[in-house]
Amino acid sequence: MTSWVTAFLNSAVGRWCGVPQPALLQRPDGETQCFRGSVLLCGKSSVYSALLRQHLTGLPDLELEDKGQPLQAIIFDGTQLQSTTELDLLWQQFTLLLPRLTHHGRIIVLSATVTEARCADAAAAQAALSGFTRSLAKEYGRFGSTANLLTLQDEVRQQLLPVLEFFLSKASAYVTGQVVAVSAALVQRLSPWVKPLQGKTALVTGAARGIGAAIAKKLTEQGARVIGLDVPQAGSELSALMRQLSGQPLLLDISQSDSAEQLSQWLAQQGMVLDILVHNAGITRDSLFHRMTEAQWTQTLDINLRAVLRITTVLLQQHQISDNGRVVLLSSMNGLAGQKGQTNYASSKAALVGYCQFMATQPQRGITFNAIAPGFIETQMTATLPVMMREAGRRMNSLYQAGTAEDVACAVAFFARPDAAGLNGTVLRVCGQSVIGA
Ligand code: NAD
Repeated sequence: MTSWVTAFLNSAVGRWCGVPQPALLQRPDGETQCFRGSVLLCGKSSVYSALLRQHLTGLPDLELEDKGQPLQAIIFDGTQLQSTTELDLLWQQFTLLLPRLTHHGRIIVLSATVTEARCADAAAAQAALSGFTRSLAKEYGRFGSTANLLTLQDEVRQQLLPVLEFFLSKASAYVTGQVVAVSAALVQRLSPWVKPLQGKTALVTGAARGIGAAIAKKLTEQGARVIGLDVPQAGSELSALMRQLSGQPLLLDISQSDSAEQLSQWLAQQGMVLDILVHNAGITRDSLFHRMTEAQWTQTLDINLRAVLRITTVLLQQHQISDNGRVVLLSSMNGLAGQKGQTNYASSKAALVGYCQFMATQPQRGITFNAIAPGFIETQMTATLPVMMREAGRRMNSLYQAGTAEDVACAVAFFARPDAAGLNGTVLRVCGQSVIGA
């Protein structure tokens, strides 16, 4: 919902006053997520150079030959930087290449894991890459460009490819300044570029509106059969959406003490096992702590946190999450950073991160657990905030704008890919590199 404050700040007067203007981000258009344009591979050659060249050659509409043309993406391979002296390569290559980066461009830097470095000098050089990448993200956000760092474990090979596709694509338009660790888990085979979720069954909680509805739409678009769950009061909205998506509505209040058993029984009756489970349902009951009622506290923790743990535990016990299943949790930037008036909400959202990271360490039949921490996203939840707080949420990031529910949905679909096995225990901020909690 555009407020008069946004309209004013984005007007000629706002520009004249020096207010940074947001670039119009290029977001996915139906099934088309891919960019057209030139991708330049640079840095210090490693095993990844040949792998990436071969893979990118197979993607539609990408040009890898350098003819001095404008660049849609720059991929810098820093995995072989072994000393701090070699960091000068960053200056040498990027000063030449960045002037050629188009608006809405992509900068992707690859690094090795610091703990696997051969010596202290190499560890320092690898760590430098995160400061470098995050700073570029802050400088190039005004052009709608993003910069992200992928940190690769020693044995990572194919696991890198789906991650690279996401960060090169329009699906990551609002993800910038992030460091994503890729591990060497087994990838059976790469998922197709179009409809990677074909044949998968997904359950999305809180699917009647907002981010949950966008997730249900995105997963359907990518080939999954979707079950949308929401409270009985949201029945008509949910049914309408599920009819549109040929999905199945399920009316259930997850805060009920037996909701996990009810869900498990329903799945058993339908003969369904989930490949993708998205814990999206959430509420806010904001109040300064000294005024917070017991109901505000318990309700928030019951829905945002305890229901998530109960449901996942029962579905895992009943083997109703398939081998190599994908569990995605909706945390929040405020959970990472804390927020005035949100001790209850931030506790629940921080707890989800801890839960996700713990579950990722448990042997779980190839099931991965990843979390998304959205920043300021335009939904009915954020529409209730006071106008100045809303405007600050929109502006205080490197892209100078709010995210959309679709931005979050794209990140969920990315974690849900069968070949995203190298991502487990990740917390991805979809926040335009918000200054909050950075
Ligand atoms: P929203 O309020 O628009 O939608 C939440 C949905 O969850 C609703 O359809 C609601 O009916 C459902 N729900 C609530 N309680 C439920 C229950 N007990 N059982 C079943 N369903 C229930 O919220 P949103 O903005 O779309 O947020 C979705 C998720 O993303 C939430 O977990 C939220 O905390 C998180 N998030 C949102 C933002 C943002 O900026 N909007 C930022 C960070 C995190």
